[in-house]
Amino acid sequence: MIFDYIVVGILGLIVGSFLNVVVHRVPRRESIVTPGSHCPSCEHSLRPWENIPVLSWVFLRGRCHGCGAAIAWRYPALELLSGLLALVIFSQVWLTAKLPLVLVFTWILLALTLIDLETHLLPDRITKPGILAGLLLNGSVLFWPSVALTSPLNALLGVIVGYGCLWLLSAGCHLATGRHGMGGGDLKLLGMIGAWLGWQAILLALFIAAISGGLVAVIYLLSGKGRDYAMPFGPYLALGGWLMLLWPEQIIHGYMHILM
Ligand SMILES: [Zn+2]
Repeated sequence: MIFDYIVVGILGLIVGSFLNVVVHRVPRRESIVTPGSHCPSCEHSLRPWENIPVLSWVFLRGRCHGCGAAIAWRYPALELLSGLLALVIFSQVWLTAKLPLVLVFTWILLALTLIDLETHLLPDRITKPGILAGLLLNGSVLFWPSVALTSPLNALLGVIVGYGCLWLLSAGCHLATGRHGMGGGDLKLLGMIGAWLGWQAILLALFIAAISGGLVAVIYLLSGKGRDYAMPFGPYLALGGWLMLLWPEQIIHGYMHILM
């Protein structure tokens, strides 16, 4: 039992280390396979002991072994977060056929969140294969029923409803204010969430995104940090999708409770 947690936690840390590579390279249109991990300042290739999640950063005191350049704290932070999320997921899903799917979907959402925060982009290189993966996965119910998160039809409708919902919102926003409220990446991200979770999850994922994003926007405005700051919406959509992935019944129940 404790051993299972340790294995899953370490897996989360290692994938977190890989996510750092994805977050850094995908927006720059670089390969995520070659070259191996290296220091962006001096090109020093990381030896295995310099590439251990979190621990290497601590041993190296946050500096490159080659040139002494500071290694941002967000690298070990993402590794820790990925490990932590893996533990939370394991405590909810246990060793079932769904565990790898839930982990992979979480890591995709996590990578997109960080890329959007950093670059204000949600790369097609992740969202489009993500949509396809969700459709294939839920389509595999015909051969492998224990794996699917929803039915193939619900998944297909999920893409249409997810993409369509935000397209309508975005078009309405454009008509009303003359400004584009959302980028195309947001539409594809919600379409991807629909492909994995089914159309039923879309509305509540969007609701959570609007509430959490709205709260952060209010905090930004109150703190006087620029009215013109275009806040990325992807992280909030990802949060909504992730919560609907893990706790759909509780969220539906809570939502009904608010309505009544
Ligand atoms: Zn260096």
